[in-house]
Amino acid sequence: MIRLLFPHICVLCHNASHSIHDLCDTCFDHFPIIPHACVRCATPLSTDKTPLTCGLCLTKPPSFDIIHTLYHYEQPVTRLILDLKFNHTLIYAALLGRLMLEHVQSTWYRSKPLPDILMPMPLHAARLKERGFNQALEIARPLAKTLKIALEIEMSRRIKPTLPQATLSATARSQNIKGAFSVTKNVVNKHIAIIDDVVTTGSTVSALSTALKDRGARQIDVWCIARS
Ligand SMILES: [Zn+2]
Ligand SMILES: [Zn+2]
Repeated sequence: MIRLLFPHICVLCHNASHSIHDLCDTCFDHFPIIPHACVRCATPLSTDKTPLTCGLCLTKPPSFDIIHTLYHYEQPVTRLILDLKFNHTLIYAALLGRLMLEHVQSTWYRSKPLPDILMPMPLHAARLKERGFNQALEIARPLAKTLKIALEIEMSRRIKPTLPQATLSATARSQNIKGAFSVTKNVVNKHIAIIDDVVTTGSTVSALSTALKDRGARQIDVWCIARS
């Protein structure tokens, strides 16, 4: 009743929204879901033929156990993420976090135990200073609170200043990110979910997963808003 009288305003088109999100149904219907994806790394695939594992994961299994993603990195999701990161539209982090929470509860972990720890993808100190906040932490905050999972922001540090991955080829990305993370706390036998906004080639989450597994982590899941 309150929602009917005082509807939310859609953050994309500014029309009234009667959903629980700050998005109207019309805009939400245009969110780019991925119909078929690799069950391990979430790379979009053009076929639904089983087994749904991409060639890369079959030949060289990644150091993470699974990537869960909400959407393709396409409009209007691109706009939300870029505005969050570069125009400091922090309300989008809360919105994206709520959308992620729904997937965690209704799909990704409906019949599986939740991780012990949520870890936002760390930013290097120089990047953090320049941006003023870590978008992955802002997305993770409401998730940790609602799911009652420990949020760890000091467990891993980004020790090497890296070039923006988007500017590099796939091979250069792996080189750029190699040795970029140090793990500063005990993670032996922990099940950890890394939270990130966008996963592109997966080399950054792979490098962090390797560092965590080298220190004894049992399982690494990755939760991301968008996959390209
Ligand atoms: Zn709308
Ligand atoms: Zn794969």
